[in-house]
Amino acid sequence: TDVIRLEAVTKRYEGTGPAALDRVDLVVGAREAVAVMGPSGSGKSTLLNLIAGLDRPTEGAVTVAGVGLGGLSETALAKFRRRHIGMIFQFFNLLDDLTVLDNVLMPARLGGISPRAARTRADELLGYLGIAGHADAYPARLSGGERQRVAIARALMNRPPLLLADEPTGAVDTANGRHITELLAELNRDGQALLMVTHDLQLARACTSRIVRIVDGRLDATPQAHDPGGPQ
Ligand code: ADP
Ligand code: ADP
Repeated sequence: TDVIRLEAVTKRYEGTGPAALDRVDLVVGAREAVAVMGPSGSGKSTLLNLIAGLDRPTEGAVTVAGVGLGGLSETALAKFRRRHIGMIFQFFNLLDDLTVLDNVLMPARLGGISPRAARTRADELLGYLGIAGHADAYPARLSGGERQRVAIARALMNRPPLLLADEPTGAVDTANGRHITELLAELNRDGQALLMVTHDLQLARACTSRIVRIVDGRLDATPQAHDPGGPQ
């Protein structure tokens, strides 16, 4: 089965003018990892936002984990997102006035897991990601790489069928970027479906089996003759 299915998806931010996404078709399998690469302004963020249900297409259908997002109300969409999609961002998007542990627990609070089960899951994730020693610290005390691992733990809290990543190594140093890359690759080997937007070709190659290129809102899903991001 598929975790993402886009059918002839077009997104226009204004009534007229060029489409930010132009009749995009994309299918991602339930255990697959796909990287989306392309120049600035080509439609990558728009694509992520539509898949996350943060915005709606002008035309076409977006189906995630078997659910057609077009049929959901805003409230149902927010609930769907919490339960089915984990998101990680370039700048982590952690809540700075909450401890690491409380950041990781946040999706469970919003998602209605019992506090006890949530705590067990959070401890397990913090251990797995090598940040258990920072559970009571505040994000500001951590390095960028550690913050991103907290964000990954938070994203995985509700065991989402789909992990979306937007430049996950874009704001960490090389060594931490490699660590994040290895973690994402391992998650996918264990069956986590992953769609990531990145300029980092090494990340894309290490973590994904397929790179799709987007230019001017159009997706080119054919295998690449050249390195999409150029040499690193
Ligand atoms: P990328 O993530 O690849 O840089 P975006 O998806 O952000 O590309 O943008 C695709 C196109 O849509 C660009 O032309 C951009 O200017 C336009 N765009 C993005 N967001 C908005 C918005 N909220 N309102 C109007 N135009 C937008
Ligand atoms: P609020 O309702 O207060 O805006 P949100 O539910 O949007 O809270 O999110 C709270 C925090 O959890 C934010 O920092 C946000 O970035 C993060 N977050 C929201 N949804 C997800 C998700 N699916 N995966 C990972 N983090 C998320």
